[in-house]
Amino acid sequence: MFFSVLDLPFINAIFMNPVLIAFTILLCLKLAAEVLLDYLNLRNIQANANTIPDGFRGFIDTETYEKSVAYSIAKQRFSIVDSLFDTAFLAVLVFSGVLVWLWAKISELTGTGLWGQSIGLFLLGILLSLPGLPLELYNTFKLEARFGFNKSTAGLWISDKLKGLVLSTVLLIPLLTLILWLVNLPVWWVWAAIVITVFQIVMLVAYPMFIMPLFNKFTDLEAGDLRDRLMSLAERTGFQARSILVMDGSKRSGHSNAFFSGLGKMRRIVLFDTLMNQLTEEELEAILAHEIGHYKLSHIPRLLLVNVVITIAAFAVLGWLLQQPNFIQAFGFQWQPGLYAPTFLMFSMISGLVTFWITPFSSIFSRRYEYQADAFAKKALQGDGQPLICALHKLHKENLSNLTPHPLYSAFHYSHPTLTERETALRED
Ligand code: ZN
Repeated sequence: MFFSVLDLPFINAIFMNPVLIAFTILLCLKLAAEVLLDYLNLRNIQANANTIPDGFRGFIDTETYEKSVAYSIAKQRFSIVDSLFDTAFLAVLVFSGVLVWLWAKISELTGTGLWGQSIGLFLLGILLSLPGLPLELYNTFKLEARFGFNKSTAGLWISDKLKGLVLSTVLLIPLLTLILWLVNLPVWWVWAAIVITVFQIVMLVAYPMFIMPLFNKFTDLEAGDLRDRLMSLAERTGFQARSILVMDGSKRSGHSNAFFSGLGKMRRIVLFDTLMNQLTEEELEAILAHEIGHYKLSHIPRLLLVNVVITIAAFAVLGWLLQQPNFIQAFGFQWQPGLYAPTFLMFSMISGLVTFWITPFSSIFSRRYEYQADAFAKKALQGDGQPLICALHKLHKENLSNLTPHPLYSAFHYSHPTLTERETALRED
């Protein structure tokens, strides 16, 4: 039996080609790691499902805990299905020849000039995102809805998609054309990394100012005790806020959050309306202090710097791949001088299989910043960590967050330390 399988020309082609061997290994390794982590996490949630673990009893009742267990299990199962779907989809695209065929059809339409190549890549990207939509719809309108989180409607969902499509057309096609044009220059990958970095900096400022308002309404926090309290905190910590914004997050979801974005004078702190309804003034102050911590400790510029290094490395690899006809030929594309799109396409499809392994390192990095922002908040509140702890308790409870993640899972995926870890750190002197 085994030999007859190896006789199939398609299986032979994989085992004869080092590029396809590498691709297959990367694809399987990522799927195995994802599913293993999801499975461990699922088991851990189920193992703790019957009784509320010590340390959580003080703030969560049995009914809510059971709901959070059911929600976490549903999310985890969905994540496994999602990983299986993504892997199967990529494998079918690559090994069936459909990807090459699609690209041929699209480039017949768009031509192979620089604009034609970038429009072609963009159109292909949209086409390839379509098969994943049912899963996305299920997640929003079934899973999230079952636990009372989804507030979106079909109309809103469609209008979000259309707005996103228009925005990405306007922003990404010219950017991609520019990058493709740069390829002809010496050390083009350095120029490309500079262009991407400038684009990221512009977006850091433009995104909260011009793009987010297309999707959500932002209003200044209204005058009153809460505003006075928060403004005085901002002044005390040297944030000098002109305003604190409240976002109508409840338009789409019952989940609550707060975030800090922008750079320098363009900085802004946004509180979700859902958060405002869940927390006391004292707790909101603690959350704001945490967000101000991210600003005062220059977390965004630091992350940007790390991004620059990653971007340069990524373009250096892409530049090398552009000089290897074997790379795209392995996937069935024809190599032509001046035709960069197939290499860009395969690079973008495969890079995720490699960058997946960077996730735990960026998570460590991100969690360190969260600890620092928590410590900043505690100091800003005269060394009192209690309001932030209470706020975190409520946030975990209201969002039905998984209280018992598997340590390997949280170490790999979590951008924030777990509740227990944050609480322990906040209780230390
Ligand atoms: Zn944070």
